[in-house]
Amino acid sequence: MVSENGGQREAQDITIVGAGPTGLFAAFYAGLRGMKVKVIEALPEPGGQLRVLYPEKYIYDVPGFPKILALDLIQALVEQAYQFHPLLCFEERVTSLERREDGLIRLQTNRGEHLTRTVLVAAGIGAFHPNRLDRPGVAEFEGRGVYYFVREKAAFRDQRVLIVGGGDSAVDWALILKDWAREVTLIHRRDQFRALEGSVAELMRSPVRVMLSHELKALHGDDRVRAATVFHNKTGDERTIPVDAVLLFLGFKADLGPVKRWGLAVDKRHILVNGRMETNVPGVYAAGDIARNPDTVYLNLIAIGFAQAAIAVNCARASLDPEARVFPGHSSEKRL
Ligand code: FAD
Repeated sequence: MVSENGGQREAQDITIVGAGPTGLFAAFYAGLRGMKVKVIEALPEPGGQLRVLYPEKYIYDVPGFPKILALDLIQALVEQAYQFHPLLCFEERVTSLERREDGLIRLQTNRGEHLTRTVLVAAGIGAFHPNRLDRPGVAEFEGRGVYYFVREKAAFRDQRVLIVGGGDSAVDWALILKDWAREVTLIHRRDQFRALEGSVAELMRSPVRVMLSHELKALHGDDRVRAATVFHNKTGDERTIPVDAVLLFLGFKADLGPVKRWGLAVDKRHILVNGRMETNVPGVYAAGDIARNPDTVYLNLIAIGFAQAAIAVNCARASLDPEARVFPGHSSEKRL
């Protein structure tokens, strides 16, 4: 694996925006086709929605796997892509795309610029931002006991965990962490959950302390968070509870943001493509959740993103070299 941030002068054959499942599989395919590949990802880690929204859930509809944990699928995709040593730029968000007169495409990011012959936009539902809570202590302790993402449940072993939220993520993580943490308290500002009924029923039977109609007032601590003051939003009753970790699951905002200003034809949240996954800008392709071909059914599924990635990359390969065919040949006949 080669990591690189901040841009570089050497133009790539293809630069993939987004390291979700579509971008990772595209990176593999581009490597298989002998292309110089770079992947630019806004988050610190690969995996897209699988990493951010449901890392420890099983997926049942990935071909070849009766069931697979989202994190395990990412790991396998990363391993598959890394065989060809793509350049990887994490925590780098593409802000603009411009096709130059010499035919190269210039991608500007928050860290620098990148030159490339073709681009595959695999930006999913856009860059993620968790909804943040503006209460005393929350910003101060972010990363020091306060988290908007859970990377691994083992990090919370034997801790006193406070979960804030009432949706699927809050309820699912409370159920997962009850077996790892010393104690789990879940507060939700409403008197009903928005999560799956079955999960809520399981939660109510579990040892998780559930406090409905409660909100977070403030966090306290020293070098890290140590306690949380919560209050009942109907009675005003307050109490301060000792905590080692606070997980805030208040939903995410994912917006296409700058993608909409790249001169690509868009339809609400999607970049319009044709059957070759080409956008209206020559050399720029789109695949996965972000791509929509008005002539076919739109399904935001991992398997669809894989197929679209293969189409886009093979078409990009052929566009760079008139001798190259779109059909890559069968991988089973190659020696990697
Ligand atoms: P994403 O996974 O969204 O990845 C896009 C990546 O691009 C992100 O990492 C993002 O940070 C990055 N990015 C965006 N903008 C920029 C930018 N400007 N610069 C740099 N990087 C950028 N599908 C199934 O097939 N089966 C399931 O069981 C299933 N379960 C799901 C459960 C949940 C709760 C959710 C929310 C989705 C589920 N899906 C499932 C859908 C599946 O996760 C998506 O179809 C898939 O993640 C799309 O992959 P993608 O790579 O196209 O986009």
